[in-house]
Amino acid sequence: MKLAIKPATGLAVLLAALSLGAPADFAAAALFGAAPSLAADTHAAASATVSAPKICAQPNDAVREYAAVIERTRKEQPELAEALRVFPKGADLHNHLSGSIPPEKYLTLGGADGACYGPDGGADSYTLNGGTSSGGCGAGFSPISGASAAERERIMESLSMYRFGYPDTQQGHDHFFATFARFRAVSDNACNTAPMLAEVLRQSSQDGVSHLETMLSFQSSAVNALARQLRQKFPEEAAYRDERRFPALRDFLVDAGLNDTVAAARTEIAQYVNKTRTLLKCDSPDAEPACGVSYAFLATVNRTSAQGDGSPDLAKVFTQAAFSMLLSSSEGRVVGVNLLSKEDTAVSLAAFQDQMRIFGYFHEAFPKVNIALHAGELTPCFVGAGNPALKEHLTGTLKAGAKRIGHAVSFAFLKQAEQSEVADLIRRSDALVEIMFTSNAQILGITGIKHPFQQYRAYGVPVAFASDDEGVSHANLTDEWIYAYQNYRLTRDELQYLGRNSLQYSFIPGAPLWADVAKGKTVNACAGDSPGSATMSKGCGRFLKESARATAQWEYEARLKEYWRGYGKYFGKR
Ligand SMILES: [Zn+2]
Repeated sequence: MKLAIKPATGLAVLLAALSLGAPADFAAAALFGAAPSLAADTHAAASATVSAPKICAQPNDAVREYAAVIERTRKEQPELAEALRVFPKGADLHNHLSGSIPPEKYLTLGGADGACYGPDGGADSYTLNGGTSSGGCGAGFSPISGASAAERERIMESLSMYRFGYPDTQQGHDHFFATFARFRAVSDNACNTAPMLAEVLRQSSQDGVSHLETMLSFQSSAVNALARQLRQKFPEEAAYRDERRFPALRDFLVDAGLNDTVAAARTEIAQYVNKTRTLLKCDSPDAEPACGVSYAFLATVNRTSAQGDGSPDLAKVFTQAAFSMLLSSSEGRVVGVNLLSKEDTAVSLAAFQDQMRIFGYFHEAFPKVNIALHAGELTPCFVGAGNPALKEHLTGTLKAGAKRIGHAVSFAFLKQAEQSEVADLIRRSDALVEIMFTSNAQILGITGIKHPFQQYRAYGVPVAFASDDEGVSHANLTDEWIYAYQNYRLTRDELQYLGRNSLQYSFIPGAPLWADVAKGKTVNACAGDSPGSATMSKGCGRFLKESARATAQWEYEARLKEYWRGYGKYFGKR
């Protein structure tokens, strides 16, 4: 179904809505949906037993500043914007499959599914449901397929940051996270997973990405049923806070059918992969360019898991972690595990140390399974100045075995000595920080000099750009690159370094090509070779044959060389 209005990006529309000349009714429309929804959210319940986080009422100037840089570039330097779109970006290492789908696509998928839309509780927003078993919609809900153009616009506003007005930072944060529950009826429908994957791969291909690692949960109902059984067997909280008891919990889960759930997930994954290949016509002469993007999954654990009384549900976290680690250790398509969701909620803050103990335990049990965790998606505005979580979430995550940290924005708010200590730990752990400017601006109100990107570079901490939730953000990965290139005055060498880092720290199996990315030094086996060339020494050939990651990096270098030949003229000397 074709939409009446389909803007290029949400950022463009956002700017229009925020400009002084915007008509009053348009500005009001931009504010629509601002009220936070607590539906399907543990935040409210958690407040009952643990102290509630602060409300961040300061203005969000970051979004305006960020969007203006991108908009100005697209308008005044379209050739540069296009060159940055085509730039080989390597890997997109941090994105959530459901959050990466634009609301337009959810309308199409939901419309075809017979899904419905209706009011989201008391909020001035819409939510989706899957319809009733008799094919109806339920009270107050109507079929998406029958929505008018104006209603579709309002649904899009409810499912994403499209035209959001950012009255303050808190409301941007709340609206962003509320969208996930609103499109869940469509995104959780397993029939839609392959079309969603195909959509994200198409977008990745358009943005010059060659490898994607996307976060997804598998067999959620079965895993959560196992968690309930575990809680019944071990009701006392102490069982989940003492490593010595963890082997017994694990044994119980295995006896209760954990391996069967892993096997079911592997079947499910094979189906997604096959269906995605079919959708993209990968085995035919009409194969879409998206077939050239390799991809893998990260299984997820939810950090906001809470019990009925609002206290942390460590049994659920333990079960999700056990399942995810076992799945990743046995399924090649699941290259790692991640911990996600709102980090500043009371339950996430209260449970952090216990969650890290659980991850640390599984890291020891499954040393080969890669861990990439969200950490430091926090600012003093949300958790209070001087809150130890600003630092401890970074160090705790690394100590639990993370090889990549998502966001790590709280670094900007640490004292210099603390920054030094954290940067040291990241370098010693040979970990990477995943930088996501768009969602940081929208959720945290942080961008420009307030963002720690340049500080990380000054400390020699490896970084790479990622998209996070381009559907919810109503933006794309190219926006991140345009912003960084313009705002931080990046050089050609720095663009290259960022692209190389993303593959260097990807979870593609095998040893990496670079001994030192920043210095452009390859591993010894390829020391005398020119990465990306058609021929190579015997030793380097043997090394590449044994490493899928190094092979992907070699191919990336070839792509990069070709790119500079065609597009180098758009990048002046800096
Ligand atoms: Zn994320």
